[in-house]
Amino acid sequence: MKTDHFLAPDYYLLDELLSEEHRLVRDSVRAWVKKEVSPVIEDACQKAVFPKQLLKGLAQVGAFGPYIPAEYGGGGLDQIAYGLIMQELERGDSGIRSTASVQSSLVMYPIYTFGSGEQKKKYLPALASGEMMGCFGLTEPDFGSNPAGMVTNIKDKGDHFLLNGAKMWISNAPFADIAVVWAKDEQGDIRGLVAERGMKGFTTPETHNKWSLRASATGELVFDNVKIPKANVFPGVKGLKGPLSCLNSARYGIAWGAIGAAMDCYDSALRYSKQRVQFGKPIAAFQLTQKKLAEMLTEITKAQLLAWRLGVMKNENKATPAQISMAKRNNVNMALQIARDARQIHGAMGITGEYPIMRHMMNLESVITYEGTHDIHLLITGMDVTGENAFM
Ligand SMILES: Cc1cc2nc3c(=O)[nH]c(=O)nc-3n(C[C@H](O)[C@H](O)[C@H](O)COP(=O)(O)OP(=O)(O)OC[C@H]3O[C@@H](n4cnc5c(N)ncnc54)[C@H](O)[C@@H]3O)c2cc1C
Repeated sequence: MKTDHFLAPDYYLLDELLSEEHRLVRDSVRAWVKKEVSPVIEDACQKAVFPKQLLKGLAQVGAFGPYIPAEYGGGGLDQIAYGLIMQELERGDSGIRSTASVQSSLVMYPIYTFGSGEQKKKYLPALASGEMMGCFGLTEPDFGSNPAGMVTNIKDKGDHFLLNGAKMWISNAPFADIAVVWAKDEQGDIRGLVAERGMKGFTTPETHNKWSLRASATGELVFDNVKIPKANVFPGVKGLKGPLSCLNSARYGIAWGAIGAAMDCYDSALRYSKQRVQFGKPIAAFQLTQKKLAEMLTEITKAQLLAWRLGVMKNENKATPAQISMAKRNNVNMALQIARDARQIHGAMGITGEYPIMRHMMNLESVITYEGTHDIHLLITGMDVTGENAFM
C-alpha cells in the first residue's frame, strides 16, 4: 500500500489567519484523508466505483452540513471551516469532495433554508449522520447552463403533486435515499421538493463510461407520474433563486476544494523533481522545472488568499454571487493548469496511478464544467462589472 507523504504548501503563512478551531478541523480532516481516502482512492477510480465505505467516516469528520446549526445535527461551524473541509477532501479526490458538497450545500442547505419545521426535523439529522444520503436534481438533458428552461413539472392533484420529467448528470443519484428536485408548477414557477427512493415511478439509472470523477457515482433521476405529498414541497421559496442560492454555497466550497487538488499536484511534483535524476542532476535543478514549480506555488498562494477573503465576506453575509463566481472560476482553472504542469514534471510516470496527477486532472475537467461552466462564470463577472447581459 502506498504511503501518503502530502505536505501542504503555506507560502504566505495563511495558518496565521486561521483560528485554532479552523486549524483543528482542517488537521483532523487532513489526517482522515491520509488514513482512509488515500489508500483506496486510486483503486476506486480505476474501477469506477464510489467507495461507499467512506460515508460513515465523512459524517464523523463533520463533512455533512458543517455550517448547519448543531440543533439539526450539523457542525455549527463558520464558512472558513466549511471551505477548509472541502479543500482537504478534494486534496484526496474531487469525487469525495463532490459527495460532501452535494450533501451539505445542495441537500441540507435548501432543506434548512427553505424547508418546513417538519422537513428539517425529518431529514437534517439523518443527513448529517450519513444515515441518509441525498442528491440534487437541477440539470436536465436539454437544460444545463440555462436551468430556467427546465421542463420537469408538478401538477396539483389536491392532496399531492404529480411529478414528471427527468434530470441528468446527478451526483450521488445512484445511491441517494432522497433527491432535492427543482420542477415547474402549473403557474410556471420553479419549486423545490423532496423525492424519496421507493416512491412509485421514481428511478435513478447510473451514468457509465466517465473518464472523470470516476470515484463519484453519477446518474439520472427519472420521474414518471410520481406522487409527491404536499408536505414534501418547500414552503419557503419560489423561482430560480431557490436552486441558485444552493449553487452559491456549493460553488464557494468548490473554490476552496480546487486548492486541495492543486496542492496535491504541486506537492507530488516538488517531491518527484527532487528525486528524479536526469543528466546527472535532480530535475529540480533545471530552470524550466523551477519555473513550473515557482508559478504553481504563486498561483496556489493567490487562490488561497482569494478563498480566505471570500470566506471572511461570506461569514459577514456580504459575499456576492458574482464574487463567488470569480473565485470558483479562477481556482478551478488554476488547479487544472497546475495538474497539467505537474503531469509534465512527472514525465511518463505522471500518466500512471502511482501518482495522483492524472486522477486530479481528469476530475477537474468535470469541476470546471459543473456548478456553472468556466465561461458562464466569466459572463457572470462580465455582467456584474458592465451591467450588460451577454448570456442571450
Ligand atoms: C460529473 C458531473 C456531475 C454533475 N452533478 C450535478 C448534480 O449533482 N446536479 C445537477 O443538477 N447537475 C450536475 N451536473 C451538471 C452540470 O451542472 C452541467 O453539466 C453544467 O451546468 C453545464 O451544463 P451542460 O453540460 O448541459 O452544458 P451546456 O449548458 O450545454 O454548455 C455547453 C457549452 O456551451 C457554453 N455555453 C452555454 N451557454 C452559453 C452562453 N450563454 N454563452 C456562452 N457560452 C455558453 C458552456 O459554457 C459550455 O462550454 C454535473 C455534471 C457533471 C459532469
